[in-house]
Order: sequence, then C-alpha cells, then structure tokens
Amino acid sequence: MDSSNSRPDEGKSASFLSARRWEFVHTLLASLEEAVVACDADGVLVLFNPAAERLHGLPAQPLGAEQWSTYYDLFRADGTTRLPADEIPLRRALRGEVVRNVEMVIAPRAERRHRVLCNGSAIVGPDGEQLGAVVVMHDVTELLEAQVHSRETRAFLDSIVENIPNMIFVKEAEGLRFVLFNRAGEALLGASRDDLIGKNDYDFFPQNQADFFTSKDRAVLSGTTVLDIPEEQIATPSGERTLHTRKIPIRGEDGAARFLLGISEDITERHLASQNALQLQLEQAKVAEAQSTSARVAAILESITDGFFAVDREWRFTYLNREAELTLQQKREDVLGKRLWDLYPELADTVFGREYLAAMRERRSITFEAYYAPLQRQLEVRAFPSDDGLSVYFRDITERFQAERRNRLLSEASKELASSSDYEASLRRFSGIALPELGDFGFFDLVDKNGEGTSRVAREKVASAREREFDDVITETLRSKTPAILPRPNGNSVMCVPILFGDRCLGALTFVYAESGRTHSDADLAIGVELAERAAIAINNATLYRELNEAVRARDEFLSIASHELKTPLTTMKLQLQVRLRRLAAKDLTRFTPEGLARMLNDEHRQIQRLTHLIDDMLDISRIHGGKLSLVPESLELCALVQEVVTRLSENIADQGVEFRLDLDPPVVGEWDRFRIDQVITNLITNALKYGAREPIVVSVALSSGGALLQIRDEGIGIPLHDQSRIFQRFERAIGASSVSGLGLGLYICKHIVDAHGGSISVESTPGKGSLFSVWLPLHGVASSTDP
Ligand code: ADP
Repeated sequence: MDSSNSRPDEGKSASFLSARRWEFVHTLLASLEEAVVACDADGVLVLFNPAAERLHGLPAQPLGAEQWSTYYDLFRADGTTRLPADEIPLRRALRGEVVRNVEMVIAPRAERRHRVLCNGSAIVGPDGEQLGAVVVMHDVTELLEAQVHSRETRAFLDSIVENIPNMIFVKEAEGLRFVLFNRAGEALLGASRDDLIGKNDYDFFPQNQADFFTSKDRAVLSGTTVLDIPEEQIATPSGERTLHTRKIPIRGEDGAARFLLGISEDITERHLASQNALQLQLEQAKVAEAQSTSARVAAILESITDGFFAVDREWRFTYLNREAELTLQQKREDVLGKRLWDLYPELADTVFGREYLAAMRERRSITFEAYYAPLQRQLEVRAFPSDDGLSVYFRDITERFQAERRNRLLSEASKELASSSDYEASLRRFSGIALPELGDFGFFDLVDKNGEGTSRVAREKVASAREREFDDVITETLRSKTPAILPRPNGNSVMCVPILFGDRCLGALTFVYAESGRTHSDADLAIGVELAERAAIAINNATLYRELNEAVRARDEFLSIASHELKTPLTTMKLQLQVRLRRLAAKDLTRFTPEGLARMLNDEHRQIQRLTHLIDDMLDISRIHGGKLSLVPESLELCALVQEVVTRLSENIADQGVEFRLDLDPPVVGEWDRFRIDQVITNLITNALKYGAREPIVVSVALSSGGALLQIRDEGIGIPLHDQSRIFQRFERAIGASSVSGLGLGLYICKHIVDAHGGSISVESTPGKGSLFSVWLPLHGVASSTDP
C-alpha cells in the first residue's frame, strides 16, 4: 500500500477534513510507527496509513465490516480463531466502545504474523454526531517475543539454579541476608527457602562462626576476585558435611557490590572417599611395611638354627620354620592353620603341653628341657606369649644331653665301683644308677664260676612276675657276646649288653623299658656298653682281688702245713736219735740187735724219703713257676711203670692193709718222661691210700682214644663238687690242714706234668663214696722240652 493508496476515497477524505489539515494529518499518519485505521459512520474504511498497509501487507479496500476479518486476516489473541466481525476493534469503536489494549493477531497467509494491541474509539463531530471510528494498532510482536524470551531465559536459568546439585545462594550486599536459595541448598541445610530468605548467618550459626562467615563475605564483596574455600565444615541436620564453596561478588552497573553469590558443592562423600583412599594408602603402606618386616623376620627365622613355631590364641599354627620342619618331621603346609592339640593330642599329658598351656594362660615366658619321646629327642624349649598367641623356640640338645647323661652315669658308676671292696654290693647299686635313664627296670646277671649258669646279682625296680621274662634275651646275649636292642610292645624296648673281659663273657646288663613307651637308642646302647666295660673291669678286679686273697690264704696255710709236714719226720727222728744216744751212753745195747738196727734204719729211711719227697715237690713247684720243669721223653710201657711204682709203694699199701687191685692191659707204649709220669702215678696212688679210707683201690691202664688211659679208683672220702676243680690248683686242699698230712701240691704238679705231655687229668667223685682220677696221655708227640 503506497501513500496514494492510503487515501481510499479522496473525495470523502476531503470532505472529512479540510485540505490543509488533511496534509498535516496525512504526513503525521505516514510517519507513525503505529498503524492507524479509520472508518466513517457507515463503516467504510476511510483511513489506512502506511504502517497499517505494512501490517496487513495489503492496501485498503472499501469492504464492508463483515469482510474485514477474512480479508485482513484478523485473529483473536490465541492466534487461531478468526476474529468475528463484531469483535473487530474498529467495529467495536464504531459501536461507541472505547477499545483499550485489545490484543489481536494479524496473520497474513504468506507473511509474518503480527500481534497488535488495539486502542480506539468512535469519532464524534462537534455536534455530537457520529462521524466514524478510529483504531490505532501498536505492533507488540517483538516486544512480546522479547518478553517471552526473557521469561524463558529466566525460567531456564531458574531451572538450572534449581536443579543444579550444588547449593546456590545469593545474599544481598548490605545486610548479607539471603535473597535466593535453591533446592540443593534447602536439602543441604534441611530448611525451606521460606525459612531462609531474609535471614542471615546470625540466624543460623553461633556468634563467632557467623562473625567469621560474615567477615569472609565482606572480604569477598570488597574485593573483585572469587573466593575459593576448598574445604569448609558445616553442621547440618544430617550431620557434619564438607563443602567446597565459591563466593563471588556481583556488582551493579555503578560497580558497587550488590549481591554475593555463593556456590557450594557438597564434597563430604568425595572427601570421605579421599580420606578413605588416604587411609587405605596408609594401611596399604602399613601392610607393605608389615609384609616387608615379616619377610625380614621370616628370613631371620629361616636362618636361625633353633626350631621355631608360632600358634595363635586358638592354638592354630601360624608359622613353622625350616629347622622345626626338620626336627618335628612335619611339612609346614601340613601344619599351618591346624590346631596344635589336633596334630599332637598326646602332647597334653607331657611337660610340653603343660608348659605351653601355662605360658599362654599366665602370659609368662617359660624355659624348660624335656625328652620328646615320639622323636626320641631331648629338647630345650623357650616359649613367649604375645597378644597373637605363643611363639616357641626349641633346640635339639639330644647330643649334648646324651653326652652329659653318659658322663654322669659313667662317673657315678665308676665312683660306685671304686667306693667299696664289697663288689657284689657295688654291682647291685651300679645297675640301679642306670635307672631310669636306661630303663624302667633292669637286671644284672653274672656267669657262674664254672661257666655253667648265671646268677642274678641285682634286680632293679622289677616286679617279681617279670623276673624270668627276659631269660631268653639274656641267654642269647651271653652266647653271642653281642649287645642288642629288641623291640617290645607299645613302643618299648629291651637292651641287653654282655659284660666282656677279653673274650670271656662275665655276665650281662639288661635294661627294660616296659611302661614309659620308650625305645633304646644307639646312644643308650653306647652307654650300656661303656657301663658293661666298667662292670667287667670291676668284676675282674674283684676276682683278682679275691684270688689274691685266696692265694695269700693258701700260701699261709701251705707254710703252716709245710712247716708241720717237714717238722714231723724231723722231730720223730730227733726223738729216736736222743733215745738211742741215751741208751748207748747207758751201755744198754739190747735194742741194737741186727733186727732192731735194720728196723731203725728203715724207719729213718722212710722219714728221709718223706722229707725228700716234700722238698722235691716244693722244688718242682718253684721249677714250674720258674718255667724250668723239663721233660725228657722216652719210649716206655705204662703198665710196667705202674707195676714198678706199686712195688715201690708195696710196703705203704701193706701198712694200710687195703685191698689193692691192678687192672693192666699191656702193652701201652708211648713217648713220655719216665721220671715225671712216675711222679704222677706215685702221687695219685699215694692220695688214694691217704684219702681211700682203707677201702679197696683199683689201678687200671688201657689204650683209649688213641692214647693211654690211667685210672685210679678208691672208695674213700670223696671230694665235694665245688672243690673238684680247685684241688688241681696250687696249695689247694679239699680237707682241713690237720686231718691228713699233705701240702696240696701233688695234684697241681700232676696236672702240670700231664698238660706238658699234651694230656688231661680229671676227677669224678662223690663225697663218701670215693673218687676216680683219670689221666689220659697221648702216645706220641711230646718233644723234649722245658715247661712252657
Ligand atoms: P695233698 O698233699 O693235700 O694230698 P694233693 O694236691 O695231692 O695234696 O691233693 C689235693 C687235695 O685233693 C687233697 O688235700 C685232698 O683234699 C684232695 N684229694 C686228692 N686225692 C683225693 C682222693 N683220692 N680222695 C679224696 N680227696 C682227695
């Protein structure tokens, strides 16, 4: 619509206004930003200024009011309902209504729609007649849009502020009262904004804290920069919280601080998390430190020579070092985590169990030494209680202990043996010393002198029922002369050690574990052997001592007998000589007849023979002793020699008036020393005469077992069994000194001569019934020699 078209009806307009005024109005209307439309009293549009044309995008058309709405695209304020003709502002104004800020939308099809506010009224002439109506339309499209935009922006910001999880608050600068508070703030402080707005810090916090906050706020307001408080503790209804707060001054255009904006982030969780992380780090560091410490400790524990184990307060193994694995013969993986009492139930009844319990219960360190039977080890133990349980160090002191025990036992045994000359009493005590170290009970058996049996010299702590239980073991040990350990039921054992002197077995020491469930070790056996050695020496010493005493006694007896024996014939001869001398002096020759003289000389000859015999025997003894008894073997017939001796002794035989029988089976020829064999025969027949109780005597000679067997049997007093071996020893006699004369040398010399010929001499005898002496001589093989 151009300006020419803005005058829809020139004629009517001219008549409507004067021409000048019209020009003025026309210019005014053309320059107005507001659209102006007017109609006459008939409702015909008479004015449509350029702004109105722009608004509608159309020139004015002389249309009836009914068509305006459609033609000019008029809508209600909702923008969608076409405006009914009677609501059109110009029409309303024409009707006489004063239209004020009526909103209307002009929405030309192809053009931008406009929202306008319409103001208008009827035009009334000076006379009061209605001339028409005018409406001014003010385009508020942009204004409204700006308002909407601003509202939306505000809503948007509000929504951000409202929904942001941080607390946002605004305080006015003067009184520092809250003017804004968001939802997160409400949640954090546990108060609604209605309670908060208009209040300041003094309403919530104690004076000093409020002073502090206020001073901070003032500092922020007086400065220009943002204040950053990385961590700030505040008390809230849900507990202490940690905030990261920023405070920002907000200034007006004049630069003066108007508000204080605060944004606080609740970093409690993060703070806690980081604190936890820090804590975790610390703990990890501690664990690492502990681990490296325990690694160091473990390295030490592994390298020490003591066994070490630790249990917790529930007695579960928590550690076991290598040495302990070796000593206890346990692998640590089999032990760790298991309870001590489950693994070693038998421990409870031992010193170990009792001491461990006491250490744990009474919380005190303990040290003790004890024998650990299952492993046969002596252990020195130190146990230290702690909050965690019990640490136990132990050392295998078996070797040291055994050595100490061995030394102690042996020195005690030696002392005992040295202390007394009553060696049987010593031996009895001696075996007791070894208990209970080497056994629960023990025996000490000695082989009898004749080597045929044993006698028990000591029995220690043994029930009589068990006396003979170990006889087989002992017999076998005496036979084998070998020490032995034999297992017994229930982990017990018996140890039997022979008492050896040279190759002679003197007896046996026997030690039995029967109740303590112990087994003898090699170390025990070594101690047993040493004890037996000491016993052997003691027994031998005692035997020597006894023999020496015996020898001294026999020698003393011999001397008294010898002096008696030598003196008797001399005294007799002396007496006879004195009688004869007295008779000669008195010239009494009646006794000196030829028969009388012959009898006298014969008597004296016998006495001298007896003396010579005694002296020969004594000389032979000293020869034998000096190794100077010589043999001069020659071929001789034994029966003839026996006959010769009997002839020589015929007078003695006749004196005794005994029945004497010879049972000779010649020839029995051999290589023998005539003089010495003569001596043997003479001696044995003389003894038969002496001890034969005038009962018959039989002497026999025969070949036997490749040699000559000479036997002399009498039916006299006999010899007790226990004396039968003794009589072949020097100075030994089976009868008292006085009853029958003799020196106790004869049989000793006989045995020596027979031995020197390689033969043997023995006796069988029953006291009261008589004796049989047998001499066996090999026929040949004796070289001319001196006595060995
Ligand atoms: P003696 O000089 O005492 O006879 P012997 O050595 O010849 O010495 O004998 C030792 C002992 O042996 C004698 O003292 C005697 O007790 C005993 N004896 C020897 N022969 C016999 C015998 N035929 N009968 C009984 N006892 C005998």
